[in-house]
Amino acid sequence: MAVPKRRTSKTVTKQRRTHKKLQVPGMTSCDNCGELKLAHRICKSCGHYKGKEVAGE
Ligand SMILES: [Zn+2]
Repeated sequence: MAVPKRRTSKTVTKQRRTHKKLQVPGMTSCDNCGELKLAHRICKSCGHYKGKEVAGE
């Protein structure tokens, strides 16, 4: 089995992870109003999901 020759340094590890936490995981912006919303959920501010309005409680 192949084994890494050198341990990955802290710097390299951190550099690799720089792009990962730019946004909160599971969050996307709403297609309708652009508000940050939870993925696969309707938008809280305008009630849209996948381009349609699905609000109504
Ligand atoms: Zn919205």
